[in-house]
Amino acid sequence: MSWISDIARPEIVALKPYEHASWEPPLERLHANELPWRATGDHSDAGLNRYPEPQPRELVTRLAALYGATPEQVLVGRGSDEAIDLLVRTFCRAGQDSVIVCPPTFGMYAVAARIQGAEVVSVPLRINAGFSLDVDTILKQCTPSVKLVFLCSPNNPTGNLVSEADILRIAERVEGRALVVVDEAYIEFATADSLIRRVKDLPQLAIMRTLSKSHGLAGARCGTLIANPEIIALLRKVIPPYAITQLTVEAVMKLLEPAQIAIMHSRITEIRSEHKRVTQAVAQLRGTRRVWPSDTNFFLAEVEDVDRALNSARAANLLIREVRAQVGLPRSVRISIGTPEQNDRLIEALR
Ligand code: PMP
Repeated sequence: MSWISDIARPEIVALKPYEHASWEPPLERLHANELPWRATGDHSDAGLNRYPEPQPRELVTRLAALYGATPEQVLVGRGSDEAIDLLVRTFCRAGQDSVIVCPPTFGMYAVAARIQGAEVVSVPLRINAGFSLDVDTILKQCTPSVKLVFLCSPNNPTGNLVSEADILRIAERVEGRALVVVDEAYIEFATADSLIRRVKDLPQLAIMRTLSKSHGLAGARCGTLIANPEIIALLRKVIPPYAITQLTVEAVMKLLEPAQIAIMHSRITEIRSEHKRVTQAVAQLRGTRRVWPSDTNFFLAEVEDVDRALNSARAANLLIREVRAQVGLPRSVRISIGTPEQNDRLIEALR
């Protein structure tokens, strides 16, 4: 056991996890109180009458290969959302520990922390410096109660990559007392390298990846946390045994075949070119004050009148996201890149 177990909740370190029915194919299963027959119309490979394999080995191995990690460094959950929740529940004691978040950013870090009863310490991004991290303030705020520092790169909703040097500087300084969790949900759209390659030598670094964005599998709910095996082992005690459904396992295994990955890359190229076209068009509209550069499949636009933009889009049957409740973004909307036809309709509606 290393310092990682020292900073985790002692109850979780001591927890004897739930003992699920053993997974021993090809033995026939009379040990899990399942029905021996499939439901009519169940065409799944394994049969939905059976519980799925906990942390399905094949899926874990496939995702580890996809992300350049080892299976011991991988936890598969129901989207990154589950990884966020598990990290907070495993490392933060209610009423005692805290997390650092850097708004404007993805809201689930703070929500998960509040659900757990952990304090949320906000260190806003430097709006006038391209939404970069305020590293000195983060380090200053990193008191002994801070267990997790959530960073998002590229960041949602601002779209920018965060400096790798800044992330590593923070990681270096918190070693032995906190984890730096880097959410790379949109990294495939960017040209930057993932920080997964540093997990091996930096046990304080945990990286979140998801199939929800560039892979087009948001409905499958499949996210991956890549971290030191000691962190993964702790989280595996906390995640419900059958979190990943058999339907997801079978769908994802088929949809991560090399041919699918090739299609994903061509779609990223298409999103990038549409991104350029749409942001240029939106930037030229009379009601637009500013369009922020973005390394993702969305962009942030500062507009004269947020309600007017939202309503115009809605009148064209399109939803765009209002983000004005977020720190520093009182006049902004976040817009996802759609199909060329949807993008044309949006530009026309905003015009
Ligand atoms: N992180 C970021 C930055 C996101 O924007 C989102 C989804 N909006 C998530 C995580 C959650 O992704 P998942 O579908 O994997 O739970």
